[in-house]
Amino acid sequence: MSWLCAFSSLIMKRKIIQIGFLIILLLVIYVRISHEKSKPLKETRLALGTFVTIDIQGKNRQNREIIDSVFSIIQIYEKQFSLTYPKSETNRINNSENSILISEDMQDILTISNQISNETEGAFDITVGKIINLYDFVDEVMPTQAEIDSALVYVGYKKISCIDSELFKDDPTIFIDLGGIAKGFIVDKAVAYLKEKGITNSAINAGGDLFVMQNPETDVWKVGIQHPRNPSALFGSVEVRDIAVVTSGDYEQFFMKDGKRIHHIIDPQTGFPSYNSISVTVIAPNTTIADALCTALFVMGPEKAIKLVNHKNDIEALIVFENNGELCYVFSNNFDKYKFTLIDSTAQFRKDIQ
Ligand code: ADP
Ligand code: MG
Repeated sequence: MSWLCAFSSLIMKRKIIQIGFLIILLLVIYVRISHEKSKPLKETRLALGTFVTIDIQGKNRQNREIIDSVFSIIQIYEKQFSLTYPKSETNRINNSENSILISEDMQDILTISNQISNETEGAFDITVGKIINLYDFVDEVMPTQAEIDSALVYVGYKKISCIDSELFKDDPTIFIDLGGIAKGFIVDKAVAYLKEKGITNSAINAGGDLFVMQNPETDVWKVGIQHPRNPSALFGSVEVRDIAVVTSGDYEQFFMKDGKRIHHIIDPQTGFPSYNSISVTVIAPNTTIADALCTALFVMGPEKAIKLVNHKNDIEALIVFENNGELCYVFSNNFDKYKFTLIDSTAQFRKDIQ
């Protein structure tokens, strides 16, 4: 009996040791998994003619698949809107006669586009495509005044209109370019997909068109604003959550000719690059609106831009411009709620413009 007891207590001891080991093993596995879970998964790929980065909290297979799907969605929309793809819907519109049936997404993007054109008195105008075609920022080609004049005849956002799914062009020559709005629209589609998949703490940046959800650690994200004249420096930073932060600048695509910066943000009135601003940052709940508005505010210049934004409840903007060779900036009434921190201390705040 006593022998049996000794024997069973030996088995018990072994069992306890085994269970102990098992608990330690499970603990190690749990710590490793939870550590991986809290690690951010970050993926950068070339898309939309720029670098697109997606951040998701949690390094796991499911999130990797979600990121792959987001990049697939981006590629599908790029093929639909970009001028680079001959069969894109945008090119089909450009090659059409006076009317054409368009997709629901195209209707949506054209509706927002038209709304921003109206609000900004045509500073945003997708029919500027006819002018953009005359410039070549790679081979440094600048059109002549005569070329610009003959293209300007076909520029004007009122020259196109939509009735339900039908798009009408005043003239078959009218050429649209969605480069000032499509990136924002696609970021919104990506964000909608991520939210649908239950992702609540992601950030997506498509070359200056950024949408941030929540930050799991600090709640807000500190977002750097690119310095328009120093590619390796920041102009300032803001702290944001669940919002779009979009920056457009004259440094994205440009070449220098006779001491002048020939860049890609065109004043639809003149057909020449706009020199009213050098960089604009818009913070808004919607990336599509932020993207188009950014381009428009750039063309409008600081005075008009700030006046417009101050009339809007949920939109704030920062305009950087040059005055007599000095770097100046101004921002809308409530921009400071995003804890704006100026990094380039040489820049002059122009309170007089507000
Ligand atoms: P990015 O972020 O790619 O630099 P932006 O949002 O600054 O783009 O918009 C610039 C692009 O928009 C140009 O490359 C051109 O395709 C188009 N664009 C230029 N000027 C205008 C304008 N006044 N209105 C609408 N689109 C414009
Ligand atoms: Mg834009």
